[in-house]
Amino acid sequence: MKLVRFGGGHVGILQDGLIYDATIALGFDPEAWPPVGMVQLIKNFNAFRSKLESAMKSPGIPLGETRLEAPILWPNKLIAYPVNYVEHGQERNVALRADVNGFFLKANSSLSGPQDPIILPDLPDREIHHECELAIIIGKTSRHLGVREALSCVFGYTCLIDVTVRGKEDRVMRKSYDTFCPIGPALATADEVGDPRNLEMKLWVNEELRQHANTRDIILDVPNMISMASSVTTLYPGDIIASGTPAGVGLIKPGDQVTIEIERVGRMTVLVEQGTGGDNLAIRKAPARS
Ligand code: MN
Repeated sequence: MKLVRFGGGHVGILQDGLIYDATIALGFDPEAWPPVGMVQLIKNFNAFRSKLESAMKSPGIPLGETRLEAPILWPNKLIAYPVNYVEHGQERNVALRADVNGFFLKANSSLSGPQDPIILPDLPDREIHHECELAIIIGKTSRHLGVREALSCVFGYTCLIDVTVRGKEDRVMRKSYDTFCPIGPALATADEVGDPRNLEMKLWVNEELRQHANTRDIILDVPNMISMASSVTTLYPGDIIASGTPAGVGLIKPGDQVTIEIERVGRMTVLVEQGTGGDNLAIRKAPARS
């Protein structure tokens, strides 16, 4: 099953180009704040399954007639792993590795959707890069999961672009600008995706293929990432884990179209726009770094 958020906080199922609105059947208020409807759906998925199926009996909305939004906007946390493919470590010439350094966090408020632009801060001396990543969506409250049982807590997967200002400042700050974490277009449930250790991933900027990898080459695989994260922190339904990028990261500029595609998970194209502001004392102290 593929789940989407759309049309101002509505929740639905995407099938064959049609969206079936389940908001009313699930008893959700699309305008509720904070916007946690999808998180509640993930938490109670089995109990809600018959309501979802009944929503599919009403007419679907053609995909082009509504606006897709970030499938999850208000998780408990957005965990991210650094360098997780050997070749990316080599191209960045960094010793950081997911299995050595563990994970970091990205601001939840950096999340944006498949039809939201990536808005670049006004930092003319800085490179801003795309990173093509598989996002793991947690389905069950979990702590201290062993590697062998880790996949049991997965709800599903989605595409994630980890947008990054290059520099020496703390990674959390450089990766937490608003719109620096497009996810979508849908949440693909785990049964739909199957083995996460054999997924083709691609990212294009305009027509140029920049990143192409397969999750079989990942250093720290999905079960190991979940196990490591859960050794530190309780994982909650709706939590997102960005699984680290393969080689081929590069510049994005205003006017670019960034397309990410992950086998059996989805494909989306996000526009890049120039924004204003985003400079600060720490960044001004090292303007020449990239
Ligand atoms: Mn990344």
